[in-house]
Amino acid sequence: MNKVNYAKELEKKIEEFQKEGRIPSLLLHACCAPCSSYCLEYLRQYFDITVFYYNPNIMNEPEYRKRVEEEKRLIAEYNRQVEIGDFEGMNSDLSARKIEIIEGDYVVKDFLDAVKGLESCPEGGDRCTKCFELRLEESAKVAAEKDFDFFTTTLTISPLKDADRLNRIGNEMAKKHGTFFLPSDFKKKEGYKRSIELSRKFDLYRQDFCGCEFSRLQRLAEKES
Ligand code: SF4
Repeated sequence: MNKVNYAKELEKKIEEFQKEGRIPSLLLHACCAPCSSYCLEYLRQYFDITVFYYNPNIMNEPEYRKRVEEEKRLIAEYNRQVEIGDFEGMNSDLSARKIEIIEGDYVVKDFLDAVKGLESCPEGGDRCTKCFELRLEESAKVAAEKDFDFFTTTLTISPLKDADRLNRIGNEMAKKHGTFFLPSDFKKKEGYKRSIELSRKFDLYRQDFCGCEFSRLQRLAEKES
């Protein structure tokens, strides 16, 4: 079976909105500032964005706080660019839209309950599927409650994360909660590379593990071996 190119699917949607002269509202689930950097740079040209920071998978609270503060600092930086009209490398028709942020509940137990019995799975396995389901379901609920046109996630920028699985779960959660998932695969079109450049530009904190303690320990063991 041919793989879907979700980056192309997103481009097609954007073309439709542009033809209609629409700027849809988008709830963008964000995992961290480095991954958000390129996604925001790209999407803010076409959408009215509210970032949804919902990541109870970050089991260590100081690490969680550090990441959420970094996300807010990045958004403030992009909003400052809007204020001063600095749109380097972007479409000149970008109108002055500021990015908002909503912080979701931070209850690590919700993550631990969701991945119960799967703690020792390697990164990329079934534990991650449950983790994606938890975060995308909450995003779908908030998108539906607050009447956003779409929701999507920055998670597809990671070369370690399966875009097929994320898009499938996103669509399932959208159906379940009566909203729409925007297809994405932000790693395509050099998106991942650009996120590294932007992280350097804004001096963003780049953690070397995904988020949960299990992924931190896995990364540590990989480094040691
Ligand atoms: S490795 Fe990442 S995606 Fe997988 S369960 Fe841990 S935090 Fe979630």
